[in-house]
Amino acid sequence: MISLKEFFSHFLSIFFPYRCHVCKNNCDFGVVLCDDCKEKLKKALHKPELVRDTAGNFKIYTLSSYDDFTSDLVKIIKYKPSKRLAVILGKICAEQADLKNFLKADDVIVPVPMHEKRLEERGFNQASVLAEAYAEKTGCNFSPAIIRSRFTKPQASCSESERSTNLDNAFSLNPDIIKSDFKGKRIIVIDDVATTGTTLLKSVEPLKDLDAKEIIALVVSHSYKKFRT
Ligand SMILES: [Zn+2]
Repeated sequence: MISLKEFFSHFLSIFFPYRCHVCKNNCDFGVVLCDDCKEKLKKALHKPELVRDTAGNFKIYTLSSYDDFTSDLVKIIKYKPSKRLAVILGKICAEQADLKNFLKADDVIVPVPMHEKRLEERGFNQASVLAEAYAEKTGCNFSPAIIRSRFTKPQASCSESERSTNLDNAFSLNPDIIKSDFKGKRIIVIDDVATTGTTLLKSVEPLKDLDAKEIIALVVSHSYKKFRT
């Protein structure tokens, strides 16, 4: 005997077919990531680990390492674009990577911001969606402390030489924050992916005026191997 909910889900999926955004298999109505892909994602995630091969002199932690599945999923969220998939990724990351042990109640998590023009195109900032999911799960503070002060070309479309200057003066402090709220706190900057680390490096620059105890970054995936082992 199937429940009324299952019946309607089946009924709706006939008229509005849903496919897993990653593997394209048929799914129930409203499901954007199938159970198989959820399991693959869970297997790929680990507790936060220090990234050793990105630019910059601050610590970047990642929840998966050189993993094609998470890298593809992050790309699909951006280019499809799918906020629902971003929300699922945030929730699974928070649980699977045991972020409750990594993020403390006193920490402040800050998403890498997106320019308003791009936000209008995409409808959501994936870094904000992830940061909100982490804050909800761990009870730490969320603050949109950084803003984009100018529109820039996507880093992925830049040549190697353009990458280092493309984001110069692209970020600034949000004028609405109270600076003293950050004094002596640990700030964790959240993004979906770290490639060369340049975006994170540039986005943390304005935070240096806040007198924080430490500034670090946390990403879901990284794929750039500067030093071959
Ligand atoms: Zn799937």
